[in-house]
Amino acid sequence: MTTAPPLAPARNAFTSADAAALRRHLGDTHARGILRPLSERRDALRRLYEGLVKHEKALHAALYADLRKSELEAYMAETGFTRDELKHTLAHLGAWARPKRVLAPLAHQPAWGWVHREPLGTVLIIAPWNYPVQLALSPLVCALAGGNTAVVKPSELTPNVSDALAALIKDTFSPDEVQVVAGGVAETTALLEQPWDHIFFTGSTQVGQIVYRAAAETMSPVTLELGGKSPAIIAEDAPLALTARRLVWGKFANAGQTCVAPDYLLVPEGNVAALVSELKREIEAQFGANPQASPDYGRLVNERNFHRVAGYLTGGHVAHGGQHDAADKYLAPTVLTDVDLDHAVMQDEIFGPVLPIIPYKSLSDALAFTNARPKPLASYVFTQSGATERAVVEGLNAGGTLINDTLLHLANGNLPFGGVGTSGIGQYHGRFGFETFTRPRGVMKKPFLLDQFVRYAPVKDWQVKLSRWFIG
Ligand code: NAD
Repeated sequence: MTTAPPLAPARNAFTSADAAALRRHLGDTHARGILRPLSERRDALRRLYEGLVKHEKALHAALYADLRKSELEAYMAETGFTRDELKHTLAHLGAWARPKRVLAPLAHQPAWGWVHREPLGTVLIIAPWNYPVQLALSPLVCALAGGNTAVVKPSELTPNVSDALAALIKDTFSPDEVQVVAGGVAETTALLEQPWDHIFFTGSTQVGQIVYRAAAETMSPVTLELGGKSPAIIAEDAPLALTARRLVWGKFANAGQTCVAPDYLLVPEGNVAALVSELKREIEAQFGANPQASPDYGRLVNERNFHRVAGYLTGGHVAHGGQHDAADKYLAPTVLTDVDLDHAVMQDEIFGPVLPIIPYKSLSDALAFTNARPKPLASYVFTQSGATERAVVEGLNAGGTLINDTLLHLANGNLPFGGVGTSGIGQYHGRFGFETFTRPRGVMKKPFLLDQFVRYAPVKDWQVKLSRWFIG
């Protein structure tokens, strides 16, 4: 007799016992071989692609309801992004999964060796609210490519997206493969009590520490995709108009609630005034004289975040913007100059539409400023000089670096994406995601044909001499 698989219960009813039953069930299905064969993984990835196409309207409507995301942003940064990741993965999975031959030492000959990438088992994916579709599904693509069963925990702060994701996953996967658990701290805490074969967490550094501590209790390996203050260094020779255009796009997309958004600008002293006027011009060009009326400008996710970000307006002189409307969770694209470095605006990750400008005298001062702070998730440099570019790439640590633009490095599936220090542990996207969700197992094979008799007891002198000669 077969028993029905446990389904993740509806929101607010998820207990430690439910978490244990769910973990056990998906562990059992993995042990039975579900999703292990490459053909099953490819099939699951194709189903997810089709599911994304089918559920796109519902997902975009949910993104608008929760975050007021425009159609273009919803496609580019969420559903389209994930479709791209799926296509890339389907195109390369065979090559990534192929065993990699390695040489065996002379002393072990005849022998063959290879590295086999094995699935981890059952993984837990915890997603944040700012790109709630991409950051739940993109790790899932990597987990499926790796041959794992999975639980996805979307953010409770985007409840419409959480429901839309649950509907997509229920419609696309059997409960033996992937399940969604909706909810917040209580549900995540119950899930974190279980041992997982991997925990993939995206969110704040503070909650990342909670996850890391819980994972230590169960010896679960982790990837932590966290945040931080990502600097953009504007060099003397940067063309200011185009630089401003790309900064405004990257900083104010999703109302600044992007983990890799430029957090603050480092600008040569003499260029501050000119850059501020280009930023003003560009903000108006992209969002109009009143960004609150722009269909392309987002809102802060909730009241708590609105008040947190509005509090940053006192950290300097408001050179542009600053208008805000609590009822609408609206805060205008804002540029701050004469910034107080001890104010929270320069201590916290801003994660909102406020852009402080810090003047610098020399490039080495700008690098020293960044290096004196926790290692960022992203770093940007705008320059036409190869020497400046190299000085930034080699002169600081950061999760990633993009030269002369913002955010786009995240969408290149051939690059690893992840943080360093307080901005994260581990990486994903493309092959790097496949490697995160598999482990390299060393496999060695010996033929029966010839035997290495020198190792067997009873040991004679000549055996010691021969093995010394072989090993060297
Ligand atoms: P968050 O840390 O508050 O929440 C992330 C997830 O953790 C959510 O699913 C939430 O339900 C859960 N959670 C919250 N508190 C918890 C607790 N006490 N115990 C257990 N689970 C808990 O993050 P957020 O506000 O959703 O997202 C914003 C942060 O995420 C920013 O710091 C941003 O930089 C970062 N982020 C990083 C990346 C990246 O790829 N590195 C991407 C997006 C966002």
